[in-house]
Amino acid sequence: NGGRSVDAPEQAQVDDRADDMRSVEKRVADLVSKMTLAEKVGQMTQAERRHATPADVKKYFLGSVLNGGGSIPGENRREDWVKMVQDFQQAAKDTRLGIPMIWGTDAVHGHSNVLNATIFPHNVGLGATRNPELVGEIAAATAKEVAATGIHWTFAPTLCVARDDRWGRAYECFGEDPELVAQFAGPFVKGMQGASLDGSTLASSKIVATAKHWVGDGGTTYGTGDEGYAIDRGDVQLSDEAFREIHITPYLPALESGVGTVMVSYSSVNGKKMHEHKALVTDVLKGELGFDGFVISDWSALSEIPAETNRERVVRSINAGLDMIMEPEKWKEFITDLTAAVEAGEVPMSRIDDAVSRILSTKFRAGLFEHDLPVLAGDSAAGGMLGAESHRALARQAVRESLVLLKNDKNLLPLSKDAKIFVAGDHANDIGLQSGGWTIEWQGKRGDITAGTTIFEGIKGLAGGDVTFSANGEGVEGHDVAIVVVGEEPYAEGMGDYVEKPCEKCQPITLPKEQQEVLARVQASGVPTVVVVVSGRPLMMSEEFSSAQAAVAAWLPGSEGAGVADVLFGDHTPKGKLPVTWPRHLKQVPINKGDKEYDPLFPYGFGLTYP
Ligand code: BGC
Repeated sequence: NGGRSVDAPEQAQVDDRADDMRSVEKRVADLVSKMTLAEKVGQMTQAERRHATPADVKKYFLGSVLNGGGSIPGENRREDWVKMVQDFQQAAKDTRLGIPMIWGTDAVHGHSNVLNATIFPHNVGLGATRNPELVGEIAAATAKEVAATGIHWTFAPTLCVARDDRWGRAYECFGEDPELVAQFAGPFVKGMQGASLDGSTLASSKIVATAKHWVGDGGTTYGTGDEGYAIDRGDVQLSDEAFREIHITPYLPALESGVGTVMVSYSSVNGKKMHEHKALVTDVLKGELGFDGFVISDWSALSEIPAETNRERVVRSINAGLDMIMEPEKWKEFITDLTAAVEAGEVPMSRIDDAVSRILSTKFRAGLFEHDLPVLAGDSAAGGMLGAESHRALARQAVRESLVLLKNDKNLLPLSKDAKIFVAGDHANDIGLQSGGWTIEWQGKRGDITAGTTIFEGIKGLAGGDVTFSANGEGVEGHDVAIVVVGEEPYAEGMGDYVEKPCEKCQPITLPKEQQEVLARVQASGVPTVVVVVSGRPLMMSEEFSSAQAAVAAWLPGSEGAGVADVLFGDHTPKGKLPVTWPRHLKQVPINKGDKEYDPLFPYGFGLTYP
């Protein structure tokens, strides 16, 4: 019958893959048996490109290099990136065993350190789309742009569950609901890596993905007193059951999809730093959940393990189950200390062999031994890959699907294209502001930082009539409608908002005074006003929303501002649903769907559409 004829080839495929995997195991075992301790420790070391040279890769057998936040000097063309990776890779190939290094980057919303790459909305906006398939396509497009620059590996997806809007990384999460985050994990990983890491990844415009930050990064509590703002890299205080349900759930589909690497979180769980948390890294992740790729530390994160010496920190983290250490600057110290610790019997050789085997097997499965650069990097067609038309179209679609219509009195929206339109606010006409953190620079930055279309340009492009822009809102009289775009300054990591006392790194989640003034100036004119919020999280704007006729949450849309215009003019209806609860005021934070007392301004899942 039909069933049999379908079954047979599938079975054959499974057998082939099992053979491949057995051969990977053999190749790994063979290689490990030939390696010296120095070669093994080098394999477990990841340095940053600004603090290591190709000669270092050769001398210390470095297993990996990353480019931390920020673009590269020079012209920053695709060829410059390829050449940089190639130079380091050549050094790795020139070592005794010729084991290729793997290069990692933070392509967290598109290939976001690279000039003129497509910048997709940050995860919070993608969460609002409720469209995992689209997110799979975004991951695939991003993989192409990354592969085109010679890079093998991205530190994405971030599978944090954003439980507190004050956290400065809330925008890196798909939302506050573990089930929602989980829906995106599988498609994202498969979009990046392909159906499985079966040796063909780098041959087919795919790259290795990282599920991060294992685990609980979005669930840290907000302390008081001196620790009052320690919400980033803080502590999660939850029962085992609640912890698993909220924070481990999103990882399950990523692991099922064969994610190649997992990055550990800076945060702690019930007082213990994740970087030394053997129960969660070795017992749960590798044991119970069967993760067989490799575990990487976060940037310099060992330094936060409370111990007297670096050596002790190294011992505790490697024995907890970390396989590769991202030690961007002090990687030599890591090598010295781990080597000494192994020689002194503080870290068993079996642990080292396990770590190295996991790293090598991921490299084999990615196809790195056959293709030391992604094949796409050497393809002449890759020239057009960065910021390709089709990728920008995908990003524009993601932007419009991410928009959440919060208010629409008297159906002010959609706007007529013939209307006399007034656009105000810095956020209306600034690629940097609409892209947020992790864009060209680690923290992101205001200004014309990369190619794209601003929201104002998008509006102008679609409007048939007159469109005026004024950053400060002056000159609104005589217009039919005003669009005031407000929001946050870009930031990455950091501490989020403060409750008890201001701190340098804090970003208040209220609207800055100057922006309130712009809004008030426009509204005083009596011209009907649409407020568009460009932010990584809900801002406390109850009053501003109540005095506006319409309001739209646009999150951090990235390079394609025209997606906002698509919806404002009704070429597309708004579809986005809140991926997080929108609180009435700061005192309600943290507030999440399912809380006992739940009376937010807009509940989780809220989103209007056009009549
Ligand atoms: C962040 C990670 C990132 C890493 C490398 C760290 O500070 O927490 O998310 O992947 O830097 O840039």
